[in-house]
Amino acid sequence: MNDAPPLVRLVDDDAAGSRSLEATPNALIPILAAASDTETQDALRNSEARFRAMSDASPLGIFVSDAQGRCDYSNAAYQRISGRSFAQTLGTNWSAAIHPEDRQRVLAAWHAAARAREPFHSEARFLREDGSVVWTRLNAAPLSVGGTLQAHVQTVEDISERKSLEFVLRAAEEALFEEKERAQVTLDSIGDAVLTTDLLGNVSYLNLVAEAMTGWSREEALGRPLAEVFTIIDGTTRQAAANPAQRAIEEDRSVGLIADCVLVRRDGVESAIEDSAAPIHNRYGQVTGAVIVFHDVSQSRAITLKMAHLAQHDVLTGLPNRFLMTERLSQAIGLARRHGRQVALLFLDMDRFKHINDSLGHVVGDELLQSVAGRLVACVRASDTVCRYGGDEFVILLADIDKPQDAAHVAEKLHQASAVPHLVGGHELHVSLSIGISVYPDDGSDTNSLMGNADTAMYHAKASGRNVYRFFTADMNARAVRRLLVEGSLRRALKQDEFVLHYQPQIDLVSGAMTGAEALIRWRDPDFGLVYPGEFIGIAEECGLIVPIGRWVLREACRQVQAWLDAGLQAVPVAVNISAVEFRQRDLLDGVALILEETGLASRYLELELTESVLMDNAESSVAVLEALKAMGVSLAVDDFGTGYSSLSYLKRFPIGTLKIDRSFVRDIATDADDATIVSAVIGMGRNLKQRVIAEGVETSAQLAFLRTHQCDEGQGFELSHPLSAHDFARLLLGRKDLQPRDLSARGDQGPGSPRAH
Ligand code: C2E
Ligand code: MG
Ligand code: MG
Repeated sequence: MNDAPPLVRLVDDDAAGSRSLEATPNALIPILAAASDTETQDALRNSEARFRAMSDASPLGIFVSDAQGRCDYSNAAYQRISGRSFAQTLGTNWSAAIHPEDRQRVLAAWHAAARAREPFHSEARFLREDGSVVWTRLNAAPLSVGGTLQAHVQTVEDISERKSLEFVLRAAEEALFEEKERAQVTLDSIGDAVLTTDLLGNVSYLNLVAEAMTGWSREEALGRPLAEVFTIIDGTTRQAAANPAQRAIEEDRSVGLIADCVLVRRDGVESAIEDSAAPIHNRYGQVTGAVIVFHDVSQSRAITLKMAHLAQHDVLTGLPNRFLMTERLSQAIGLARRHGRQVALLFLDMDRFKHINDSLGHVVGDELLQSVAGRLVACVRASDTVCRYGGDEFVILLADIDKPQDAAHVAEKLHQASAVPHLVGGHELHVSLSIGISVYPDDGSDTNSLMGNADTAMYHAKASGRNVYRFFTADMNARAVRRLLVEGSLRRALKQDEFVLHYQPQIDLVSGAMTGAEALIRWRDPDFGLVYPGEFIGIAEECGLIVPIGRWVLREACRQVQAWLDAGLQAVPVAVNISAVEFRQRDLLDGVALILEETGLASRYLELELTESVLMDNAESSVAVLEALKAMGVSLAVDDFGTGYSSLSYLKRFPIGTLKIDRSFVRDIATDADDATIVSAVIGMGRNLKQRVIAEGVETSAQLAFLRTHQCDEGQGFELSHPLSAHDFARLLLGRKDLQPRDLSARGDQGPGSPRAH
């Protein structure tokens, strides 16, 4: 209180005086004292009592201080507000009850008001003795008598209640503001578009994303019908889609948009969208509008579509893959069953594709597949399905045909189309197709059997020569089953050493001397007995087992001849048959060299027999392989000569030492003039090309006589000797020098189908 300024500095004036309180008891004391007569004193006492009563009845706190600022009066309300008793207030400065934190501010304002001679008002806290705080409103006015400042009067109003209400309101306002701000920022920063409507379906709000996606600014969109701002259509039907806000309001629940919903922006640009609408409720639970939340799913929808496409299509050709094919086939079967129609499945395999791929590279191979795919698609109707089944295999589904002949017609069309060479990477590539056909319902009633049977028929087409189509027949299936059986047994045979070699002598027709032997494989099957190669070589070729089997033959033949040599026998060169698959093996040369090295056999004792078609199939690269074999010292023979189409120019270029005339020509030489002419021509050609000519399948003395007359070098056949077991053959080698055709009539194996076969 002592720091309070002296009130004397305040100067009274009329204006201030009229605003100041009438009087305060102590301030009136000098006045009262001045009153001399009793009447006047009574009147004053009355007045004072009235004043006290009024003052104490006032809810306003009243505090009167003298000119020095010391309290000489406080009323009951003041004492209640300040928490101080009358005695406690007496003599204290008016600012003593003000909270220390507010005091400085209040005094500054007070001085300012005093200087300006203006009434003073302020709001400040009172700090009570007990530590509690009361918000007050303060007013102050000077009390001057005759122009002299006598006192100062302060009124104090307890405004705690109003203050706390104000605080609550301000806090609520702030919370609301924050809440609104938070909602706004959230709505503008989320990736989803948010749009609200009122109960009538007019737009009441859009966030930034919604603005961008609809093409409408918030200001423009406000109050417009939703359909105008949020235009959606069904992506599939292109029809306007139902308004989701309307439904959410009507049904008073969240509703999803239609599955394939497309939003049309104000400028016409479309985007696939997804999401939902929900009703907005007021505090009484009544629906007041709806909110639609949506987001752009164009990208994810496009990815989904792409993934779905990839899963069902071949990447290289873009054609349906086997999964989609199977699905369509099963649909086609279902429809055909209901409508009594037929379905055809064509299984296509490109002939010689592997060879093109190997020799010209994968890039050319890939382009060729694409070119073929294009041709196939052009040959069928849009309702048919062309599928790349894998590798060089294609499957065509003719979903609805009248008769199997329709499928044959398509197969012919495919063959015609493939007759035109494909121009790929500067190459003119000729592609032929082997086609197998199965038809629903005759060849199967489900996808698996139809696929399997078309595949079987395709194998038969391939076996019948290239560029051929075959319908599936039940008989094929039996063979297919047998083929599977044989394949399994062959694997076991390899492991369990069930193969043996027989040796068939080759005889010089002039001297009768044995010049060589052909190694012929036999299979001692524990169930079927001796099985001839005609029964299993083809299957071994198809399933690739021919490679390990061929290696076994080569090794065994070399080992055997070396064993005979080691035993001091006058062994002869051995001819080993090499199949097409083996010949195409990259490591053929290495394999032969390794086996010769392992067995220690000199290469001049080894001859390899290759059929004409194997050699001519890829004549140019054959030259290189044959040259390499020749360089190793291995002899080469053309087997079954006359059955294929040899190019004479190649025959001359190939380092061939031996021509073996196929036994089909030899069979009828004595009776058929054409065959006789062919055989004698081949003999002449061989002589010109300095090649050794061997007639195969010499079975009769008449044939032998013919061959001798026409100066055929050598012969091989039952008339000379059957193929013999190694043991029997060794006996023959023992007395080799004296051999004459008749002496050679050793009865070895009689060949397949012979009643004397082992
Ligand atoms: P090929 O190379 O033409 O072998 C000659 C076939 O004619 C042999 O049949 C032989 O037994 C048979 N033969 C010999 N003389 C006569 C005769 O006077 N009359 C008749 N009708 N047949 C005679 P085989 O052993 O059944 O072999 C058949 C074919 O199997 C062979 O024909 C050859 O292409 C293939 N083959 C045999 N062994 C092997 C082998 O180890 N590897 C490969 N890749 N193929 C082999
Ligand atoms: Mg042969
Ligand atoms: Mg032959």
